Amino acid sequence: MMGLLIEEILIYGIVAIICLIVVWIYLRKNKSSSSLTQQKVNIAKAEGRFEPVSLYPHIDLNTCIGSGACIKACPEQDILGIVDDKATAINASACIGHGACFHACPVEAITLRIGTATRGVDLPHVKPTYETNVSGIYIAGELGGMGLIKNSIEQGKQAVENIAKSTKKKIEGIPDLVIIGAGPAGIGGALTAKKNGLDVVVLDQDSLGGTVSNFPRTKIVMTRPVDLPLYGKVKFNETSKSELLKVWNEALSNNEIKIEEHVKVDKITPLVDNSLKVISNDGREWQTNHVLLAIGRRGSPRKLGIPGEESEKVAYKLLEPERISGKKIMVVGGGDSAVESAMLLMEENEVTLSYRKEKFARIKPKNQERINEAIEKGYVKPLFNSNLISIEPDKIQLQVNAENGEAVSIENDLVYIFIGGELPTKFLENAGVTITKRFGQIMKKH
Ligand SMILES: Cc1cc2nc3c(=O)[nH]c(=O)nc-3n(C[C@H](O)[C@H](O)[C@H](O)COP(=O)(O)OP(=O)(O)OC[C@H]3O[C@@H](n4cnc5c(N)ncnc54)[C@H](O)[C@@H]3O)c2cc1C
Ligand code: SF4
Repeated sequence: MMGLLIEEILIYGIVAIICLIVVWIYLRKNKSSSSLTQQKVNIAKAEGRFEPVSLYPHIDLNTCIGSGACIKACPEQDILGIVDDKATAINASACIGHGACFHACPVEAITLRIGTATRGVDLPHVKPTYETNVSGIYIAGELGGMGLIKNSIEQGKQAVENIAKSTKKKIEGIPDLVIIGAGPAGIGGALTAKKNGLDVVVLDQDSLGGTVSNFPRTKIVMTRPVDLPLYGKVKFNETSKSELLKVWNEALSNNEIKIEEHVKVDKITPLVDNSLKVISNDGREWQTNHVLLAIGRRGSPRKLGIPGEESEKVAYKLLEPERISGKKIMVVGGGDSAVESAMLLMEENEVTLSYRKEKFARIKPKNQERINEAIEKGYVKPLFNSNLISIEPDKIQLQVNAENGEAVSIENDLVYIFIGGELPTKFLENAGVTITKRFGQIMKKH
C-alpha cells in the first residue's frame, strides 16, 4: 500500500517537473523572441522605418491578447511582431495596408489608420461622389487615402459612374473626361467611361499599371476578385504582376482604350466656362469637363533637367536588375535608393555612383557598411561633389570636384537617377483642391 503511494507521488512529481520544464522552455523562448523583436523595433526606429507612411495597423494594447494571428496573416516581412505578449509594429513604413492583419485579429484589437499623432499625412477632401471642392475634379484610389488594387479599381469605377451622371453641359469637340494616372483606379475609371459612352483621354507619366508595374517580377500580389466593366469578373486572390498587367492590357485593348504613356500632367486650371484645362510638362493641353485624378500617393520622380535626360537609356526606377549585365552604368544620387541600386548592379556591370555632396546622405547604417565595402573592393566607383551636365548616346558629361571644374566625359550605356520625388500635395494645392493633415484617422474598423 505504502509502496503504491510512493510510486504515485513519484509519478505526479515527475509530471509536475516535466510541466515546469515545458513552461520554462516556453517562457525562455518567448522572452528571447520578444527581445529579438524589440531589437528589430529599435533598428527600425533608428533607420526611420518604424513610422508608417500611409495606411497601417494601429494596435489597441488593452485589447490585444498577443495571439500572433496578425503576424501569421501578414504576407510582408517583419512589419509586425510580438513584444511582451502584445503585438507591435516593426517596419511600419513597409506596410501596404492590405488589412489582412486587421481581418485575422480574433479580438478586433486592430484598426487601419492613416497618419500618427506625430506624423500627419496630407489627404484631399473628397465628397461621397468622389468629387473634390473644385467642380469637375474627382479623386479615386490611393490618393484619397484608401489604397489597394481592388479598392482603387472600385473607386475609379464609382467616381466615373458619378461623372457619367454629371449635369455639366457637354462641350462639343472636347473629351468628357481626362483621367490622370493609369494604375488600378485609372483603369477602373477608363473602362467605366467607355461603358457609359464617355469620350475619355487617359494620361500617365509612366506606363500602364501604376505602382503594380513597379512590383518585383516574383512578388505574390494579393488581391480580391473584381468586376471589370466591359470585360467581366477577374477572379484573382493571389496572382503575379505579369498576370494582372496581361488582364488589364487585354481589357483596355479589347475596348480600344489607349493610354497616352510618358505624359506627366503638371497643372489643372479651371476655365471661365466651368470646364478645366489639363496641361502636361511638355506643354500639351486638353480642355475637358471632368478630370479624374488617379495618381496614387507616390508622386513623380525628380529630374535633373539636363540635355539628353529624355533619352531611353535614362530611368528613375530599377526593375529586374538581374537582367542587366556587361553595361557601363551611372547611378545618380546619394540616398538609400541610389546606393541599393548601385549594389544590385555592381556584380555584372561597371558601376559609377555620382553624388553632388561630399558624402552619402543619411543612408541606413547597413547600406553605409555595404557600400563602403563595395567601394573599397572597387565594385562601385564613387564620384562625390559631381554633377551630370549632359547625357549623350554613348557617354555622359559631368563636372567633378570644383564648382567651376572642367567637364569630364565618361563612356556610358545606362543612367539611373534617384534624387527623390515630388509628392502630389503641391500639384493638388495648385489645382485648388483642399488638403488637410490627418493624424491617426481611422480608415477601417470592425
Ligand atoms: C511594395 C508594394 C506592394 C504592394 N502590394 C500590394 C498587393 O499585394 N495587393 C494590393 O492590393 N495592393 C498592393 N500594394 C498597393 C497598391 O499597389 C496600390 O494601393 C494601388 O496600386 C493604388 O492604385 P492607384 O491607381 O490609386 O495608384 P497607383 O497604382 O500608384 O497609380 C498612379 C499612376 O499615376 C501616375 N501619375 C502620378 N502622377 C502623375 C502625373 N502628374 N501625371 C501623369 N501621371 C501621373 C503614375 O505614374 C501611376 O502610374 C502594394 C504597394 C506597394 C508599394
Ligand atoms: S495591413 Fe497588410 S502589410 Fe500592413 S501589417 Fe497588416 S497584413 Fe501586413
